[in-house]
Amino acid sequence: MSGAAHDTDEAWQRSVRAQFPIIVAHPELAYLDSAATSQKPRAVLDAVQTYLTTCNANAGRGAYPWANRTTELIERARHRVKEFLGDPEPDRSAVHFTAGTTEGLRVVAHDWLMEYLADGDEILVPFADHRANLDPWLETRSRLAARGVTVHVRALPYQEASGDYDHRALASAVGPRTRFVAATHVHHVYGGDMNVHRLRAAVGPHVPICLDAAQSAGHLPLRVGDPALDVDFVVFSGHKAFALPGTGAVWARNTRGPVLRPAGWQGTPNTVGVVSLLAALDWLDTVGVARVGAHVTALATRLTDRLRRLDAYEILGCPASLASDTALPPAQRRQGIVTFRHRSIPSDDLGFILFSHGFMVRADSLCQAGADDKDGSVRVSPQVYNTAEEVDRLLTVLTDLA
Ligand code: PMP
Repeated sequence: MSGAAHDTDEAWQRSVRAQFPIIVAHPELAYLDSAATSQKPRAVLDAVQTYLTTCNANAGRGAYPWANRTTELIERARHRVKEFLGDPEPDRSAVHFTAGTTEGLRVVAHDWLMEYLADGDEILVPFADHRANLDPWLETRSRLAARGVTVHVRALPYQEASGDYDHRALASAVGPRTRFVAATHVHHVYGGDMNVHRLRAAVGPHVPICLDAAQSAGHLPLRVGDPALDVDFVVFSGHKAFALPGTGAVWARNTRGPVLRPAGWQGTPNTVGVVSLLAALDWLDTVGVARVGAHVTALATRLTDRLRRLDAYEILGCPASLASDTALPPAQRRQGIVTFRHRSIPSDDLGFILFSHGFMVRADSLCQAGADDKDGSVRVSPQVYNTAEEVDRLLTVLTDLA
């Protein structure tokens, strides 16, 4: 990278960081837990404040301007999510707002998959990703079993060497009764890009695919009109992508299987949350999702490159995707998450030690399906507001602890 380009990137990052009041207010702290939830830029905070102080009302219920304005904002947000995903058929697809990815995946499972599956069908789901992307599918199997409908749940195969799904094994795991696949876009522990562009080829044109995009929305451009992302559901958390806590969405393409219709009376939506999501997506467009992702990945690479030289640490995930000098093409590379263990300091202790030096990281079993507390690790997940200087400071502390 040329010096000029480098300066431009630094100036850009400084100006973006300056838009996060909580970050600016705490220069002594480094928030490195953005895979759990992101901090919020001024534009989102302002949108929330403006909404609550100018037109807060219930949506779709009033014959007065505030209620109408609320309805309009929610419809705009719905349209905005479709735009954000590059939806080629917005008149056909649907967006349902949820409290996050967990609720979103459960909506797909309970309100769509239940209706779609028949006795003897098979589904393929991930057994070593976030438990939010396993529990709902197992619950569906149990609920259908209670009705006398048997559904077989098979594990989406992994390949150890590359850390993503085993697309060759997948081809043989798919049978005539395979009716649904649930996958993860970017792994929340290993940071690996799961190469979901290969899924469609492996499962054929008719099997619906549900994508957990919790760790990719806001990091990678998501284009559902692109054949590489020919999935049927995209589920993500708004709060990991700069919107308020308790926000998220399910996008449903609605071209394979029944139309998704969330069951039951929906009640009052999280209006202010939806307003924050609208503002967050607008803000992300302004700064550029690809640029955010590139910055975050660069920080993760900077951390990984030096951490892997310290014998005291074991970095979790695919070794081939770790280094900046890897020959793997970018699509097979790791995104901005680095998870590791110290070989003799328990991870929860390491989390406390790091906080005593001002670093906020995640230190537990990271909600990974099948993992328990003895599988604890430390996860560093930077965002656009983090700096190379923070990563270097963290490395100094980790080096001292080695
Ligand atoms: N899936 C993945 C891959 C995640 O990283 C997370 C959050 N850590 C979730 C699902 C659950 O998201 P939420 O807590 O917003 O429901």
